[in-house]
Amino acid sequence: ASYWSHVPAAPPDSILGIASLYRKDPEKNKLNLSVGAYRDDHGNPTVLRVVRKVEQEPASDHEYIPMAGIPSFCQAAAELILGGKAKSIIEKRVVTVQSLSGTGALRVGAEFLYQFYHPTATTEKPHVYIPRPSWGNHRKVFQSAGLKVAEYRYFDSSTCDVDGKGLIEDLKNIPCHSIIVLHACAHNPTGADPSEELWKQILQVVIQKHHLVFFDSAYQGFASGDLEKDAFAVRMFEQSGIEMLVAQSFAKNMGLYGERVGALSFVCKDSSVVSCVQSQLETIIRSMYSSPPANGARIASRILNDPVLLGEWKQELLEMSGRIQEMRKMLYEELVSRKTPGNWSHITKQIGMFSFTGLNVEQVRYLREKYHIYMTEDGRASMAGLSRETVSMFADGIHDAVV
Ligand code: PLP
Repeated sequence: ASYWSHVPAAPPDSILGIASLYRKDPEKNKLNLSVGAYRDDHGNPTVLRVVRKVEQEPASDHEYIPMAGIPSFCQAAAELILGGKAKSIIEKRVVTVQSLSGTGALRVGAEFLYQFYHPTATTEKPHVYIPRPSWGNHRKVFQSAGLKVAEYRYFDSSTCDVDGKGLIEDLKNIPCHSIIVLHACAHNPTGADPSEELWKQILQVVIQKHHLVFFDSAYQGFASGDLEKDAFAVRMFEQSGIEMLVAQSFAKNMGLYGERVGALSFVCKDSSVVSCVQSQLETIIRSMYSSPPANGARIASRILNDPVLLGEWKQELLEMSGRIQEMRKMLYEELVSRKTPGNWSHITKQIGMFSFTGLNVEQVRYLREKYHIYMTEDGRASMAGLSRETVSMFADGIHDAVV
């Protein structure tokens, strides 16, 4: 018998499970709104022009890069999210390591927290609080590092917007020094972000309760089209002088999904801790995968460090985010013109790749079976998966499902 005969099958990933149903569907006019990757108006994956351009440059060697990654990439990534003139950067209080995209940044950060975050003398380790709902992988990433995960209220399904009151109450009522995961912008899966006012209140509670913030920034520039605007919350927290962690992904905003380009930054209170934090991060990386991949980070570094390429990238960010916003507007207008029961204003108010439509499981299944439209069963639809041609079909389906 095999050593593994007792191993049960792992439950399928809910999102990838939907994608596999989609692939098996023989219908020609099917529509996949479950994927978390950008598509152009013809439904095709997109390679950014600026990325193609950098790829034409003479190839480098394939030597190992340092454990912490390419220094010019790390520096530029930290400046991108915190701001080039951030006090913490000028005062050399930031440690940044390259990571295997956003997931890898979260995972290495989680490992570090498990090993070194002991804010009080008690034996009970602080829990990690993630929003309810959150990106499906958050819980697993933190749990696999040995941390306990709990949730704070985030979304009000009656308004399809952030439950500001519940959120603040929960952050106030949980133990001091908890680890709080915050989506920097374009919350996944809801597309609903705190207002500036609410961000200020969150910061106040964080300071009062001495919570440790771990920002997850997976959509900078991709949400609003403006890199600065999408970094608002992270920069406001940085300016307050608190310590925090920031995970960055370049999957969506540079379209470098499979290249696994990301960064993990520790914003520290004091530059004296920087070299020890850096050395422990390198130790964690060494035992997990030795050193990160070179290719994607080289591309990102070229773009971030060259003013001309940077300008071209910003233009493409506007194009991608603009197309998504146009899809939101068209879908909203199609539903209003059909007089579809319900208030659909959240579709244009929400931001980023996804819309939390408010459709329930039965309605989502109805759309899949009758219209061959595939979205996750929580009612999340990728706005990037829509096109000018398919938006009316989606509106027809929604209308039929809710009346
Ligand atoms: N965090 C959030 C909120 C996300 O939505 C995603 C991707 O969908 C990620 C992190 C990480 O993605 P990646 O590891 O591809 O950068």
